[in-house]
Amino acid sequence: MKIAIVGTGVAGSYLLNQLGRNHKVTGFERYPKEKYQCVCAWGTTKDYISEYAEACDLDFENYILHEGDNILVSFGGAEIESPLSGLVAFDKHRFLEDMQHGSKIKYGTWVQSENDLKGYDMVVDATGLRTLLPKIQGHEILIPCVQYKVKYQNPPFDDFYIQVLENMGGYLWYFPLGGKWAHIGAGDLNHNHHKVIQNFFDRYGGEREKIVGRPVRLCPPKYCQPFTSGKVVGVGESIGTVFPLLGEGIIPTLQCGELLTTNLHDLDQYRREVLDHFAFYETAYNFLAPLLRGEVSLFEQAGLSLAVLLHMWANESRYGIKLQLSGMKIEPFSLMQQAMTIARMITI
Ligand SMILES: Cc1cc2nc3c(=O)[nH]c(=O)nc-3n(C[C@H](O)[C@H](O)[C@H](O)COP(=O)(O)OP(=O)(O)OC[C@H]3O[C@@H](n4cnc5c(N)ncnc54)[C@H](O)[C@@H]3O)c2cc1C
Repeated sequence: MKIAIVGTGVAGSYLLNQLGRNHKVTGFERYPKEKYQCVCAWGTTKDYISEYAEACDLDFENYILHEGDNILVSFGGAEIESPLSGLVAFDKHRFLEDMQHGSKIKYGTWVQSENDLKGYDMVVDATGLRTLLPKIQGHEILIPCVQYKVKYQNPPFDDFYIQVLENMGGYLWYFPLGGKWAHIGAGDLNHNHHKVIQNFFDRYGGEREKIVGRPVRLCPPKYCQPFTSGKVVGVGESIGTVFPLLGEGIIPTLQCGELLTTNLHDLDQYRREVLDHFAFYETAYNFLAPLLRGEVSLFEQAGLSLAVLLHMWANESRYGIKLQLSGMKIEPFSLMQQAMTIARMITI
């Protein structure tokens, strides 16, 4: 087949590599090559991404910048330090370049619709934004994010750090990149992400080298249908493969890319397998969406919280974080304030 792959993020790069083995593929990327922006914090779980690296004849160990031992999560007045199992920060930019190696890519080409691409048997929407597919109705949640690459003389943290925002609309992250470098970013549905980051810089300083930003889609595949339109088929974040609770999209997007690779000639089967594989994302979304809107129903939320907690427990190695409360420290006044904020959201 002659296939156009629009977008050379993680989905597009993986498909260029895998489909390029048996088909005539061309990549299209809106950025010029020298200005390519890989907007992501570069965190992933080592054991799960390694198989996709291997499929592309790459050794994932060569891309690791920082291997996490612990993550510190700050939430209201509580701080929980949890051990990690496989969470790493990696050089995603170089990883994508190496997956793309030898592929034909037209950089600086902003594809606006299927009609811009003539003569292809299939057009893959790997834009993350869903540019070539019908807009999502009703359930769309896009969290605006901003992120800096920062250099420290004395890094304020030596491992992963996350601060859940007071209004529950998102979180701030600090991901060490090895040496004195870190990615510091924030996403907040209530648009306080710039302010939250500024507070962090006021407190910890640091030389800001580069700023990037884009919204992350939290709407699960179930609500990102249709996955196809004309010759276009969606993959990755374009069809909602981001775990809503964490904003984690790299591994799910690779999983989705693999499902498309194996079902390339049966797109209805692809749709069924994507819906089946990411069925839990709907539960996670249904848990999170009311919290983000500030409307929590006590009875519904209790059941969903349990489902989410059990899922996270059962999948500790997948998410790379071991859940435990033993490392918890509490600052009672702040915790009380946070509890009041949540209590104000609750309806019975
Ligand atoms: C700030 C931020 C931090 C994140 N951190 C993490 C993290 O640490 N770990 C994790 O697992 N997930 C993270 N995510 C989520 C993850 O990055 C994405 O879910 C994942 O990269 C989606 O991959 P994709 O290939 O579908 O889309 P993308 O990675 O967004 O790639 C899409 C590509 O398409 C190109 N493009 C877009 N429109 C067009 C067009 N019209 N024509 C041509 N090209 C186009 C873009 O330039 C881009 O190169 C983060 C997201 C954000 C926004």
